[in-house]
Amino acid sequence: MTATGTRTADAARTLFVERFGTEPVGTWSAPGRVNLIGEHTDYNDGFVLPFAIQHRTHVALAPREDGVFRVRVISTFDEGIVDVALDELDALFPERRDEIPEWSRYPLGVAWALLAASGTDPRSVRGVDLAFASDVPVGAGLSSSAAIEGATAVALAETWGIDLDRVALAQIGRRAENEAVGAPTGIMDQMASLLGRADAAIFLDCRSLDANVIDLGFADAGLELIVIDTGVKHSHATGGYGERRAACERGAAVLGVAALRDVTPDDLPRLAELVDEVTFRRVRHVVTENQRVLDTVQTLREHGPTAIGDLLVASHASMRDDFEISVPELDTAVEAALSAGAVGARMTGGGFGGAAIALVAHDKVQAVTDAATAAFAAAGFAAPTIFTVTPSAGAARD
Ligand code: ADP
Ligand code: MG
Repeated sequence: MTATGTRTADAARTLFVERFGTEPVGTWSAPGRVNLIGEHTDYNDGFVLPFAIQHRTHVALAPREDGVFRVRVISTFDEGIVDVALDELDALFPERRDEIPEWSRYPLGVAWALLAASGTDPRSVRGVDLAFASDVPVGAGLSSSAAIEGATAVALAETWGIDLDRVALAQIGRRAENEAVGAPTGIMDQMASLLGRADAAIFLDCRSLDANVIDLGFADAGLELIVIDTGVKHSHATGGYGERRAACERGAAVLGVAALRDVTPDDLPRLAELVDEVTFRRVRHVVTENQRVLDTVQTLREHGPTAIGDLLVASHASMRDDFEISVPELDTAVEAALSAGAVGARMTGGGFGGAAIALVAHDKVQAVTDAATAAFAAAGFAAPTIFTVTPSAGAARD
């Protein structure tokens, strides 16, 4: 574990001891992720290329010794312990989820979905206590949500002796987020968090869930991947995410295909006749973005990471102009990074805020950092938080 990782695991342990008054049996953790390319393609059955990052959510856990069938969760985010009977989870989700604090729907939703997916009787497993601490920035597009889901999934699966593979655990995390939280997100984040590898990205086909490890080789090429967190908070449960998703479904329905994955750039002229201009641009983003993911994988394999800059830049332009999910802060971050010599840059994550990424030669990191900071100040935006991310391993027991 990194020094920060050890500190965060210790924070989870300390919280556990303080609030539950006993010792945990161990800690488990799962990372956030950065999506290198492939935005809003996941729920269109398309392609994505995320990698897990060094920032992780840790959970300290102990099974209850008193035979009580309850699950209790606590986080450094919140004062209160949320305490639910295991056999009440089924009644709680989704209809009565408003009865518990929003954050607790992520881990309790995972407990619910894990029991359901494995056909486990909630009265056949032991009650558990879980305490969470995290160094994944929240709402920055780095998927703190997948990190808490992934950490919960691996911790509970091991504790309850439920033998499911990583793809099944990712599907459980997604179900928790979609149904227990009510955020209509795809499966990319959970797959990245559960399958991540050091120095590599996960090339994921979101239809078949085939996942291939793609070497990134940033360090060998003298490159760093910088995150410029704008500090503008997004929410997936509200706002424009659902509207974009609906536009994609409309486009697929008009073309008579199951998902936009089945649409090629050649189909676009035909679609232009059939839908309004806004729907057309939404679809064009997804269709061209899918192609950019395939091109990025091929370019990485054949020419290495220094050659993917133009694809990152084209992805940003498509999100800004066609999908319209960028915000002025993200555009400013991308423009500043490119003008200071970044190889490529784009917003990452679901949009409407969050972070941009920039691929930067080692000796230009300071110049890019300074340029982004200066551009934000000149525009009157709050100072961004800028840090380097390292492609890292997925969820595991610490
Ligand atoms: P993102 O995944 O981009 O960080 P989301 O809105 O998808 O943003 O998920 C963030 C939400 O996940 C938080 O508002 C909180 O409800 C929940 N969450 C994430 N990490 C934790 C944590 N360590 N403790 C409690 N809740 C968390
Ligand atoms: Mg999220």
